[in-house]
Amino acid sequence: MNYTDHFEIEELVSKEIYNAYGEKACWFLDGRLRILLETMRNRLKIEMVINTWNYTSEQLATLNSKYGMHYADTPRLSARGFREPATANAYGVALSQHRFGRAIDFDAIGITADEVRERIIKDFSIYRIYGLTVIETGIDWVHIDLRYTPGDSLPTNLILFTK
Ligand SMILES: [Zn+2]
Repeated sequence: MNYTDHFEIEELVSKEIYNAYGEKACWFLDGRLRILLETMRNRLKIEMVINTWNYTSEQLATLNSKYGMHYADTPRLSARGFREPATANAYGVALSQHRFGRAIDFDAIGITADEVRERIIKDFSIYRIYGLTVIETGIDWVHIDLRYTPGDSLPTNLILFTK
């Protein structure tokens, strides 16, 4: 089910949520993510992998062999977009921005997370228009989120967050 030109709603929610809500699973995602993700995809010009539960084994094997990724056939990634309350004890912090539908974790295929972060920082004046406020550092995937930050209605500085 198309969410944007480049992303399916399945990539942004778990299999359980998708099976229960279908296209209405977009209710659980901050509306600004749609244009932010699409803008980022168009600027990076690189495939972005979020959840993998809806990928075929062949697709994962190709990403692993061709691009040196390490996607497992099981378990599949399913909590890199919206994380529903039922998963609260399974992974992630209880009040993660993912639980509010305001965060995405992704890999940009073929370039490192650090390179992606550098490019996001360089283009922050564009991304902030679509709500980006925070990226997490020190991890080998890219975490972006749209959390509210006090002060200006538009943040002038991207917040680099480390656990
Ligand atoms: Zn995250």
